[in-house]
Amino acid sequence: MLELKTAFEQLASQAAECRLCPRLQDRRAVLSHLNGTLHPLVMFIGEAPGQKGADRTRIPLVGDISGRNFDLFLTATGLSRQEIFITNAVLCNPREDDCNVRPNNQEIKNCKPFLLRQIELLQPPIIATLGAVALSSLKQIEPHKLTLKDVGKAFDWYGRKLVPLYHPSPHVVNGHRRANEQLLDYKVIVDILMTTNNSSGNSAENRENNTKHIEVL
Ligand code: SF4
Repeated sequence: MLELKTAFEQLASQAAECRLCPRLQDRRAVLSHLNGTLHPLVMFIGEAPGQKGADRTRIPLVGDISGRNFDLFLTATGLSRQEIFITNAVLCNPREDDCNVRPNNQEIKNCKPFLLRQIELLQPPIIATLGAVALSSLKQIEPHKLTLKDVGKAFDWYGRKLVPLYHPSPHVVNGHRRANEQLLDYKVIVDILMTTNNSSGNSAENRENNTKHIEVL
């Protein structure tokens, strides 16, 4: 069996060379060691790299307002970026008229093998989806009936906990799920980490303090 690092690098190379989606021919997949640790406590799955964010910086959720919002929510959990891995349902940035657009169903289907392989390699104990597209994309791996009505709760899925969350984009934060509500949604991740006694750089005490912080926001 290939060493994890080697296997991941091979997967990243395959993604970099992939041109399966006609609309995304000029884009490059965002998948590398910059996505996070290969031993994540939590794997976050978003929709697709953003034009001003990951497609430019090559780091998921870095460089745009979605990334700034995400960092705020992540900090409230007591987790650091060194403890997580961030990827997307579609690894290349879909855009039209110089604006981000949703990936279409075929693009999500095309990219499913990459998503599945990332989960199989990294074996995250918790997966948190950011938005409806990411949540729906997991149905291709193991069917589920979850929707954004189930946000902020934990479910058993594919041998791990699945936590549906809203996307941290300014469009969502300003119109659908405000920052203080999203902060509370992230609390379930803290609860899982505390009950599963995960050892990491941050102590359970820190996470408990962060939970209290979330509750008073
Ligand atoms: S989105 Fe995924 S399947 Fe489509 S071209 Fe990029 S890497 Fe390939």
